[in-house]
Amino acid sequence: MPDTFWSMKHLMKIIGKKSSYPPLGLLTVASLLPEDWNKKLVDLNLYSISKKDIEWADYVFISAMNVQEASAKEAIRFCKMHRAKIVAGGPLFTHEYEKFPEVDHFVLNEAEITLPFFVEDILNGSPKKIYKTHEFPDVTKSPMPQWSLVDLNKYAYAIVQYSRGCPYMCDFCDVTALFGRRPRTKTPAQIIAELEMILETGQPELILFADDNLIGNKRDLKNNLLPQLIEWRRHHKNTPGFATQVTVNLADDETMMKQMIDAGFRHIFVGIESPEEESLESCKKTQNLRRDLLQNVKKLQKFGFIVTGGFIVGFDTDRESIFESQVNFIQQSGIVIATVNVLKAPPGTDLHVRLKSENRLIEPFDFDENKTNIITKMELDKLYKGYKYILDNIYKPEMVYKRAKVFLTEYGDHKTEMPIKKKISLNDLFTFFRLAFYVGVVGQERKYFWKLVFETLLTKRKNILYAYFFSALIYQFKMLHNRFLVSYREIVANYT
Ligand code: SF4
Repeated sequence: MPDTFWSMKHLMKIIGKKSSYPPLGLLTVASLLPEDWNKKLVDLNLYSISKKDIEWADYVFISAMNVQEASAKEAIRFCKMHRAKIVAGGPLFTHEYEKFPEVDHFVLNEAEITLPFFVEDILNGSPKKIYKTHEFPDVTKSPMPQWSLVDLNKYAYAIVQYSRGCPYMCDFCDVTALFGRRPRTKTPAQIIAELEMILETGQPELILFADDNLIGNKRDLKNNLLPQLIEWRRHHKNTPGFATQVTVNLADDETMMKQMIDAGFRHIFVGIESPEEESLESCKKTQNLRRDLLQNVKKLQKFGFIVTGGFIVGFDTDRESIFESQVNFIQQSGIVIATVNVLKAPPGTDLHVRLKSENRLIEPFDFDENKTNIITKMELDKLYKGYKYILDNIYKPEMVYKRAKVFLTEYGDHKTEMPIKKKISLNDLFTFFRLAFYVGVVGQERKYFWKLVFETLLTKRKNILYAYFFSALIYQFKMLHNRFLVSYREIVANYT
């Protein structure tokens, strides 16, 4: 995983973990393969792959997201150098398998459907090159991921997936092309069994529900999963909190918010995209329209959620004022963890289809969050200067500190019978010392670290763990910003 917002590489260094989360897709694939096949997982975020690993295996199964294309190509090259047979699947290959001629077999789309055909053909001695489908599997039949293949304690959090698909149609998003518009959900019993298996395997700090939109099927969530998760948590009081992705209309449903808090959800990612209605309309983000997005975020925070926000610039309708509007929105909202992307059109999306027909695509597609594959309406020079203006502002230690202050003032005392209890471990103490050293002593941003810590101790002592967490983010964002400045120079050199 490259050094992006999502990898949180520098934060991992502070908390003493190797990587954010394990590769749930490959763990599920491992369970779909015959039980009597020997399996080994090499997560390239933790280890490099060795010649010995490859010689051990009859087949190397590789999976990747679009953002991991460069690393996937390198791994494929290495495997081929050692004459491995490669089987590839996952979003990167499902969209653009033609880009990888060295791969022997492609098992595309959702593996619950395509992988059994591949296995059958392997056993018959006649595997084909490509396996794909237009159907979506019933995820209630999806097996328990093979957790025995990973050392969970090397990761910051564990991961489960309750649903696939999303009912919305944001034109830049490939979720509906990959997983459909009717969210398919696992049963509560499946999820609870997965959670129990995770807790037997390790002690994660957080468990991520890696759903495209957890509230995509509200009825199912409110009537089935949440009540059973609440009941389960009643008997598992030391279970870590949950994180997930939702749409902003969660703020319209107080019953569901309360249920989610009681079930243990605290961190939610919300795609805000833009404070401008015109831009939301242009990308068909209908669920964000005709509402007060700022107040919605504040309501979610008051209920007890820590909101991470996704923002985009580069829509056809964006004017030059957008850059300042985005900074103002982010600062006022108290969204400490904010990610801003330049609009891009991933293959498989409606936006890609539209821009292709308008001859406005730049090939090849590069998923770097700072780049675009679109010939934008705004001059590239203005767009990137404005984008830089946003990042210079929101990643500045002083601005992260200010957002953290807004958040800690707004953050609600959520009334729940089941608060998340955090036992302080030895690793937490080491984390504190690393944090104090990197941010509080050697970091130029140390002033903001100590201000945040002391002000929280004096005013809202019970939020002190959040103050530490946000201080670690001051460091993460500073490092990410430095990386951006390097790539910014390259980007500017390319378009001038
Ligand atoms: S709501 Fe989120 S997951 Fe659903 S289509 Fe829009 S961006 Fe994609």
